Amino acid sequence: MAQPIPSQLTAASLAANATRLVRTGRERAGRAWAAAVPDGSPQARVLGTGWGVIARPYVHVLLLAGLAVVLAASFGFDSYRGAIVLTLVMYAIAALGLDIPVGFSGVLSIGHGAAFAVGMYTAAIASGTHTLPIWLALPIAFAVGAAIGLLMAIPAGRLGGLGLAVVSLGFVLVLADVVRWWDSLTGGVNGIPAIMSRWSFERSGAILDQAELLYVTVAVFVLAYLAHWYFRSASVGRSAVAAKCDPIGAGALGISPYRTRLYTFTLGSGIGAIAGGINGYVVSYVSPASITVDLSFLFLVMVVLGGAGSRIGSVLGAIVIGGLPIWLSEHPTLNVILYAAMLLLVVRFRPSGIIARRATAVRLARPPAVPNQPTGQADAPAKAAEPVIRAENVSKQFGGLVAVDGVSLTARPGEVIAIVGPNGSGKTTLLNLLSGLYPIDGGTLEVAGTRVDRLSRRRLPRLAVARTFQTPKIFPDLSVAEHLHLAARRPVHHRAPAEREAFERIAFSLLDATSLPVDRVQSAADLSHGQLRFLEIAVAVSRAPRALLLDEPATGLGPSEIELLSDTVRRVAALGCAVLLVEHHLELVHAVADRAVVLHLGEVLWAGPPAEIGSSDRVRDAYLGVGV
Ligand code: ADP
Ligand code: MG
Repeated sequence: MAQPIPSQLTAASLAANATRLVRTGRERAGRAWAAAVPDGSPQARVLGTGWGVIARPYVHVLLLAGLAVVLAASFGFDSYRGAIVLTLVMYAIAALGLDIPVGFSGVLSIGHGAAFAVGMYTAAIASGTHTLPIWLALPIAFAVGAAIGLLMAIPAGRLGGLGLAVVSLGFVLVLADVVRWWDSLTGGVNGIPAIMSRWSFERSGAILDQAELLYVTVAVFVLAYLAHWYFRSASVGRSAVAAKCDPIGAGALGISPYRTRLYTFTLGSGIGAIAGGINGYVVSYVSPASITVDLSFLFLVMVVLGGAGSRIGSVLGAIVIGGLPIWLSEHPTLNVILYAAMLLLVVRFRPSGIIARRATAVRLARPPAVPNQPTGQADAPAKAAEPVIRAENVSKQFGGLVAVDGVSLTARPGEVIAIVGPNGSGKTTLLNLLSGLYPIDGGTLEVAGTRVDRLSRRRLPRLAVARTFQTPKIFPDLSVAEHLHLAARRPVHHRAPAEREAFERIAFSLLDATSLPVDRVQSAADLSHGQLRFLEIAVAVSRAPRALLLDEPATGLGPSEIELLSDTVRRVAALGCAVLLVEHHLELVHAVADRAVVLHLGEVLWAGPPAEIGSSDRVRDAYLGVGV
């Protein structure tokens, strides 16, 4: 009699067991690491938990580089397979470069082949037409490629990701024609032959052999890998990721999504051009025929298949996609079928690529705990101080609809103003005006003593204003610590370190109170609603704002969370920050607000002490829709 298959042995449970094994393995490695590194030490904070030493990028990259050299040496540097290793390392450099705009900015650059070709021609002109050594030609290729990338991104970046994709595609198509036409520089249709890689300036100088060329390529790979890592770990790359995840949320932190696209595209194109330059030395002959759109798509597939935003993913993509046609050159049909099958499988099972890297570790300094904190009211600045926000008669129209209609409002330091009103009464639009998200259509607006009627939308957040949104705007590709890091790097203007610390202390107490995983390198995407809400508030607070604008923060929170919220509002106000609280939750309004303003159909219907809101007939009519 056949034994029934034990239930643990079904495919699904096998897969689940395997995943669990890998996970516990990682956790054990993480614990061993944590034991080796004292808690709270800089290393522990940089790495978070869960990964061992192997997780460090410079260990990764040295292992990969060593592997490439050992493989090429064992095949023979001059052998066919040795040349394949060199080509794949070159592809990996190109893929890492492309992953910077694709993975960080979410820009599908179809024009990476253009940067590659520009680099190829730069190296060819430098070392073929002229006799520049390779160590000079490759940096020049980087600079020219970066300049071309910047030129493409300046107009196209305004159009957003898709615009950049289309413009960059157009650029590849035009480039071959430009090269053909500009024959004094590029040799026209004949191209440039005999591109020599030398160390020295002399034409007679020794030419790099295959081994040396591989070493140079591997060295460039290490640099590209570390550049990718550094860019992502630095504030600029983190801002790019934030702008990709949510341009409006990033804008509220003073980040310009357009600028982040310029940076990613420029750096990526420069790295792509170096890879192209190396390719010039490998093939030692360039012509317009080598500029094809196919190559651009190949690079894009490498990055998307490997996992956009992941260094290892890009390298893996380059090896698989770049290697397949070489390995299967004798079976071209099989090659195409495999490609298709692989793409389908990846799209079906791992839509964000084979290796999807999200959050990165970040060094986040906790503000020092102060034993005797200033006790709110006593230290609060006099409320007669210069207003933080002075809006006179501001209005905003959407087509024929007047969403905000001549509202005047003054907020002084430390004052909590509740803005109440039925849905559609213009509360959010008013916050959008006061935070600079929308320009005002009429009236005057003064923030922190500066007339801001005409300021761009990034200036107001930088000047004084932090805000949250009706639906929390957080950045799912960043960890909790990265959110805080981003905000801490963007305090509002002219805040002394001591002031900033006081705000950061409030932000950290929110993280602790809501158990936000600040020490874990884990995407903030899977947090609960309350955690998202408080993360967003913590981010806004840690910018040490002069005015904090909260749009219906109590929605969806439980009683204890609302308690935490009102406590936070009080603490922030006690530091002299004006708080504008859009809220339906009247108990909260009563508990924290100094004044209440009721909006109706875009106009101020009533203003007065919060306790009296309920007793106003006009307000009751507005809420019941009876009209006034
Ligand atoms: P509230 O936050 O008080 O519920 P809003 O400020 O969101 O109200 O909306 C006020 C009015 O303005 C609504 O009629 C809304 O449809 C309209 N509105 C808000 N934002 C826009 C926009 N971006 N485009 C067009 N209409 C808008
Ligand atoms: Mg609203």
